[in-house]
Amino acid sequence: MLGLMQHQPLLISTLIEFADRHHGDGEIVSRRVEGDIHRYTWRDVAARSRRLARALDGEKLAPGERVATIAWNGYRHLELYFGVSGSGRVLHTINPRLHPEQIAWIVGHAEDRVLCFDMSFLPIVQAVHAKCPTVRKWVALCDADKLPADSGIPGLVSYESWIAAQPDSYHWPELDENTASSMCYTSGTTGNPKAALYSHRSTTLHAYAAALPDVMNLSARDSVLPVVPMFHVNAWGIPYSAALTGCKLVFPGPALDGKSVYELIEAEGVTYAAGVPTVWQMLLGHMKPAGLKFSKLNRTVIGGSACPPAMISAFQDDYGVQVLHAWGMTEMSPLGTLCTLKNKHLALPPEQQMKIRLKQGRAIYGVDMKIVGDDGKELPWDGKAFGDLYVKGPWVVREYFKGEGGDPLVDGWFPTGDVATIDADGYMQITDRSKDVIKSGGEWISSIDIENIAMAHPAVAMAACVGMPHPKWDERPVVAVVKKPGAEVSKDELLDFYKTKTVAKWQVPDDVIFVDAIPLGATGKMLKTKLREQLKDYRLPGTS
Ligand code: AMP
Repeated sequence: MLGLMQHQPLLISTLIEFADRHHGDGEIVSRRVEGDIHRYTWRDVAARSRRLARALDGEKLAPGERVATIAWNGYRHLELYFGVSGSGRVLHTINPRLHPEQIAWIVGHAEDRVLCFDMSFLPIVQAVHAKCPTVRKWVALCDADKLPADSGIPGLVSYESWIAAQPDSYHWPELDENTASSMCYTSGTTGNPKAALYSHRSTTLHAYAAALPDVMNLSARDSVLPVVPMFHVNAWGIPYSAALTGCKLVFPGPALDGKSVYELIEAEGVTYAAGVPTVWQMLLGHMKPAGLKFSKLNRTVIGGSACPPAMISAFQDDYGVQVLHAWGMTEMSPLGTLCTLKNKHLALPPEQQMKIRLKQGRAIYGVDMKIVGDDGKELPWDGKAFGDLYVKGPWVVREYFKGEGGDPLVDGWFPTGDVATIDADGYMQITDRSKDVIKSGGEWISSIDIENIAMAHPAVAMAACVGMPHPKWDERPVVAVVKKPGAEVSKDELLDFYKTKTVAKWQVPDDVIFVDAIPLGATGKMLKTKLREQLKDYRLPGTS
């Protein structure tokens, strides 16, 4: 027997309609590429998204055709989120930090028809447009008077004149909720990148789940700053959850340095911010020497790579800001787990609470997870056994765009490529990426643990641990370290520092290499493959 409730598809257009109707005067503040601050409301987002949908109709864009963006976090990008997907087209957000050749490849693979870009990315577009034959229309996200006369890009129009020509009335189509809504290519550390293709249903369910109290905990009373880019897995779904809760949104545009982010947080009463550890490193690096404090910020969600313990303590102890450690991936829309304590943990002493806070957290309803050993058998949830982490759920990929790479699932589960433990309370902790784990004498060493210890040293800005070939042990850990500006620490001091920490003697790195910078990928994650390449002539002490 079927239930007798109404069938209303879960559509992205319903999110913006809701924000319009119930939070119409809620503010959206953006630092623009132009350098100034722009303000308007959810009502304006809705009206301009409708104009944009009309403009896409005017281009005769068929349902499902792709509209690409190369843009920072800002209000025009937000309108593209709703206008493109809401009208039945697919929003393809492109990471501008990729190599232009890779961008051209992605545009061709996605068969993008329209490409909208911030003016700061004009040089990229000038470099790639001739290699993007699928693109029929190039749109610069600016006013008409900011369009360069001689860009060399055929038919380039300004976004403002493009949508101004349209009325703001539009009837959002009633799509099947499984219709594709947006796509994002994975970082592609090996081989060509592959695209996750999200649907209206997966995006809306993810938006609901993300807003829950033990997940992102968003409400109409929050002022939310997504520093995590809108070109990286939909800014962790925050634009959608923001429309669903009606919170104020604050966009940083291109200014991601510590000073600019701090000033925006203070000026806009930001209560909640989200980003990868690297950006928070820059923020704290700006605040500490100047003795600055936050007046309203009380929560920050940190994910994308492991959050170092020193960062959790700095936010909590020095600034009274609760850190929510999150884990996910492009293939998961991206949220998988988030770390908040259970009631029974609240009475624990701070050091024990910290041990839990460092974990990547508990699964969100909608995400199932398991760890499996080399023999493919499921491992116990005892916080000790570690194995390959598998997930499944309604916002986890079933297949990549165009079937690239074949069937990624194993018995219906998606292998994340992460190695993890899960404890009896369901808290998952990543110990490594399967390819980054260091095998020494048949025992695994977590590169994350080794990095976290180095990062806890006051003179260390960044640390990356890799395994180097060893004739006896197979591999031994070596840690590459970037010192903080003006700070000094010697190799021996750092190695002694490990002896004061809870790490087995055999897990202490064999060497410390001081470097000017750790190679970072397009999404700000450490590129260990590149670091290994840079160290190809390196030999461990005592080996030849
Ligand atoms: P991406 O698809 O680019 O977002 O990368 C996803 C990968 O980033 C995951 O599979 C993890 O390896 C890593 N990652 C994301 N969040 C965390 C975290 N909180 N701690 C450790 N690794 C993380």
